[in-house]
Amino acid sequence: MEVFDTINETQKHLKSSQNKTIGFVPTMGALHHGHIALIKKSFAENDLTVCSIFVNPTQFNNPEDLKKYPRTLDEDCKMLEEAGCDVVFAPTAEEMYPNLPQIKLNFGYLEEIMEGKFRPGHFNGVGIVVAKLFHIVKPNKTYFGQKDIQQVAVINRLIKDFSFDLEMIVCDTIRENDGLAMSSRNRRLSDEARAMAPKIYESLKLGEKLLLAGESIESVKSKISDFYRTYSEFELEYYEITDFESLESISKISPERKTAIIIAAHLGGVRLIDNYIF
Ligand code: AMP
Repeated sequence: MEVFDTINETQKHLKSSQNKTIGFVPTMGALHHGHIALIKKSFAENDLTVCSIFVNPTQFNNPEDLKKYPRTLDEDCKMLEEAGCDVVFAPTAEEMYPNLPQIKLNFGYLEEIMEGKFRPGHFNGVGIVVAKLFHIVKPNKTYFGQKDIQQVAVINRLIKDFSFDLEMIVCDTIRENDGLAMSSRNRRLSDEARAMAPKIYESLKLGEKLLLAGESIESVKSKISDFYRTYSEFELEYYEITDFESLESISKISPERKTAIIIAAHLGGVRLIDNYIF
């Protein structure tokens, strides 16, 4: 496995592997089995797998969150090598942004809901860095996690709007045994918070159960608010019940269309997101 921190070296190496298909997994590092599942899928479907590790400052709207984001490059590289990754691109912020981008991306409706609403500027940062990474790596396929469901919608638009010649593969959310979605941020949870964290998944499953039992969207949302009031360690940011494709709020579930329940909550100073599709 080759590890590069410059765009030049990465591109030189990839150019020398002409005619090979490239699978690309962008990450912010502090890798876990959720990331590794993406790498393994890419390994199975491509000649070469490239993983980027870059904690992208322009997608953090909260400076504390950026400062505290875990950075574990050596461990990450060990995990990547074992999983069959061929190339790691781990640039510095100066390498990626010799000048701060002047361009601004706006993803329309996606900016106004959930992550877009609560993290202003986040998707502008995500869109620009992913577009840069696609230009640097030139992959045939790229792999993203369903865990970040709104990010998947944003990247879909990015690929279409900029005519990137690549295919996005979306992979299921990998969970701990107790249901907690794996996340780099989980390492920041205290033991007490970690013990409470599976309540997030529990609240998604509860929502599904209530909806399938015929309860209205409003009633489910109100019961979920009650649920989080009883667990005061959590600060619920949003709990949305949407159409799986458009991510628009729905007024009732339908057997013809998949529903997504999407949540963001703060627990012990850590912001966690998750979703469940049925
Ligand atoms: P991140 O390092 O958080 O930017 O995530 C890099 C990629 O891994 C994104 O496409 C995420 O959606 C994906 N990912 C993160 N956590 C999980 C998980 N638990 N299961 C599957 N994919 C994940």
